[in-house]
Amino acid sequence: MRTFDGDETSSSADQLTLRRTNLGLVLRLLRDRGPRSRAKLAAELGMTRSAVSTLVGELEARGLVRIGDLERGAVGRPGTSVQLDGHAVAGLGAEVNVNHVSTMALDLTGEVVSEHKLALDAHAFTVEAVLDRLADLVRQTTADLTRRGIDPIGLTVGVAGLVDRERGWLTFGPNLDWQDVPVHELLRDRLGEAYPITVENEGNLAALAEATPGDRDRQDVLVLFGEVGVGGGIVAEGRPLRGRQGYAGEFGHMIVEPQGRRCGCGRVGCWETVVGLRALLDLAADPDDQVRDPAMAIDERLAELNRRASLGDTRTLDALAQVGGWLGLGAAMLANALNPAAIVLSGYFAAVGEHMRPAIESRLRDGVLAPDAGGTRVELSTLGFTAAVRGGAGLSLDRVFADPTSVERRPVAAGATR
Ligand SMILES: [Zn+2]
Repeated sequence: MRTFDGDETSSSADQLTLRRTNLGLVLRLLRDRGPRSRAKLAAELGMTRSAVSTLVGELEARGLVRIGDLERGAVGRPGTSVQLDGHAVAGLGAEVNVNHVSTMALDLTGEVVSEHKLALDAHAFTVEAVLDRLADLVRQTTADLTRRGIDPIGLTVGVAGLVDRERGWLTFGPNLDWQDVPVHELLRDRLGEAYPITVENEGNLAALAEATPGDRDRQDVLVLFGEVGVGGGIVAEGRPLRGRQGYAGEFGHMIVEPQGRRCGCGRVGCWETVVGLRALLDLAADPDDQVRDPAMAIDERLAELNRRASLGDTRTLDALAQVGGWLGLGAAMLANALNPAAIVLSGYFAAVGEHMRPAIESRLRDGVLAPDAGGTRVELSTLGFTAAVRGGAGLSLDRVFADPTSVERRPVAAGATR
């Protein structure tokens, strides 16, 4: 309600907003450019040294930065540097996938502080049972954090399919065979309300995990994430491009073969029918072959395929070349549309990517109008099947970088001198 002293109220509200903004600026600069002195921070941010000292002091009180010795130079006194402190909070990421559920916690510096994974065939369980298992893993993860005195700041859950982010529902997950699942609510029932829970498309999360803050070559990135389904995400100028309703990045359902096979989504000839994991496994092995055994962990099955390819097994190499060709065809369409700096192959594409790379790159060169494929590089993710959980944990941490006051001030330790 507006009152006559409203001006005063709004000006103190403005100051609070300004302080939050400035705290966020300092914290993000330390993340993107590394440890530095308060003097350097002041120069880079165009603030006074005393304003920076106040902000750093507040971040320190919240356990988000620590002040230590800068490396001693050849001459002169050592300065003191400010750097991110990973001991206070961690962001949580989790993933529900057709073949597994998994979790990861990242501290503020981006270090992994906990990681759990459970192989399961999601089709063999009810939605509730799958989320029970995921909630167990999240509890194990937060227990790891508690033992180290770290607070979870938030949980971002990646799911394979269309996500209504506002409601936290998986609207449609053709490969999980889930429809209109209130993931947020079901996890809230299981995990309580100690920290916020967000639901995201796993492709967006995998894409975010590949975009490195502060690295110019990693600001425009297209991630193709291969599993049973094929998804991915677009990071443009460092930010996820989600589209009007958050459904961007459903690359797997671009129709590339109108007379082809029926997709899990009901359409015919979607890209994932020719590049999804099933397509590769069907081409590479007979039904009774171990690489098609869903009970065997997927990384082991892919390692076996790589082993066969390295030994020159013709059937495996042909399968990889055929799928690689299809992958290159779709990649060229996307590169024509988006001209990314890098197309990063993630999920199973990364695991067997070295053997598919020649076919992909050749199709990409042929299919992109711009010379030299518009400078788009094909890269293999080094994050493996952890890309989505890592991106989720990173997105949870973004809350702190956007507003460091979302973390409580820490109680001052006995004997502290500062
Ligand atoms: Zn489809």
